[in-house]
Amino acid sequence: METKSPALVITNANLITWENPNRVLENQAIYIVGDQIADIGAQAKIVACYPDAKQLDADGKYVMPGNICAHTHFYGALARGMAIPEPAPKEFLEILQKLWWPLDKSLGLEDVKTSAGVMLVDAIKHGTTTLFDHHASPNAIEGSLDTIAEMVSVSGLRAVLCYEVTDRDGRERAQAGIEENLRFLKRCSVDCLEGGRVTGTFGLHASLTLSDETLDACRQLVPIEVGFHIHGAEHEVDQYDSLMKSGMRVVDRLHKHGILGPDTIVAHAVHIDARETALLAETGTWVTHQPRSNMNNGVGVAQVESMLRAGVKVGLGTDGFSHAMWEEFKAAYLLHKVWNRDPRRMSGKDVIQVGVYNNANLACRYFPGAVIGELIPGAYADLIFVDYHPSTPLSPENLPWHILFGFHESMVTTTIVAGDVLMHNRKLLTLDEEAITAHARELAPQVWERYRSFVSRPLEKP
Ligand SMILES: [Zn+2]
Repeated sequence: METKSPALVITNANLITWENPNRVLENQAIYIVGDQIADIGAQAKIVACYPDAKQLDADGKYVMPGNICAHTHFYGALARGMAIPEPAPKEFLEILQKLWWPLDKSLGLEDVKTSAGVMLVDAIKHGTTTLFDHHASPNAIEGSLDTIAEMVSVSGLRAVLCYEVTDRDGRERAQAGIEENLRFLKRCSVDCLEGGRVTGTFGLHASLTLSDETLDACRQLVPIEVGFHIHGAEHEVDQYDSLMKSGMRVVDRLHKHGILGPDTIVAHAVHIDARETALLAETGTWVTHQPRSNMNNGVGVAQVESMLRAGVKVGLGTDGFSHAMWEEFKAAYLLHKVWNRDPRRMSGKDVIQVGVYNNANLACRYFPGAVIGELIPGAYADLIFVDYHPSTPLSPENLPWHILFGFHESMVTTTIVAGDVLMHNRKLLTLDEEAITAHARELAPQVWERYRSFVSRPLEKP
């Protein structure tokens, strides 16, 4: 990546600041020094104050903080278009057994790196600047997080990485997963990777593939200030398994093993009860909602509004779908209405609370050096330009509905992270999409071949 210029002024910008309350400001300029926003003001004033700074013309576009994805899987890109042998999986556990578990076994480090590259290109093009990844490659565990970090570093994006520890591949691999997380976390704390843009959390797959012994071992080995990133109650099977194993429901079980807390992310929480909701709120644990994934897997719908009212911090992720966060906003907005047969459910304000404000607060915990997700002086310069021409008045009050009914990720023309321009006028500057996708097409047939050999074996028990 090119080194950034010491100072940059973005001119001719209409700002969406995502402060709370939000502001929309016209004819503004933004002065960036290093990786942070230093000043914001009327175009003429900012240009006069900082005459020596390099200028980047926003040409009247909306300039706003980049989107944040609170839960994804970079390793899934090579699964696109892959044939799953008949009969089609009829429920969630079969989807894991017939698709994701044989697929993740088929990945080597080169596949991991290339799959991440595909996902990161997608993130830059769609204006997503911070991502929380959850990785699995049981036949290439050691060094997998460094491999992903290397790709993230080339891309210039911001990411929080982890390896999913699980007992489903035996004791040795569970141990290797633990070591990969610990080693990478240590590396992050010592080296402040990529100028602080890459950091880690401790990954766990899900209650249904983790024994009490492994959960205890992880709790003992992980420093108290480090959070966990785990799938929780995505489907009833996770609850059935937890009740069988421990007599406790999933969230109670995770709490008993010390996994919950203000830096821990529980993805999904579709099948939790009132006490589990309260426990997530009491412990300050984050929940992430992935409506497109839940619809695709037919697992049901998380009670997001109830969780919000109970004080649970719910964010929004993609679960490996395209990192087009406004698509995820729209899916959330629509899904809860049809599921509840009530058009008042999941209002535009709820969607913004989850997808913008809560995601920003989560990102700030992991990148404490400056504010993320707001366009204000002192925030990281993680910004996108949006070529949107509103057909009706646009105000801070009605912006959620402009986003839900008017914005598309194809309108993102420029993506900036920490003051570095990663895409300008839709031209990618850090990653070579053509080369990455060509390499992915070379690797995919071999991954699919290995997948076929794994999928033809008897289905694994969780
Ligand atoms: Zn997931």
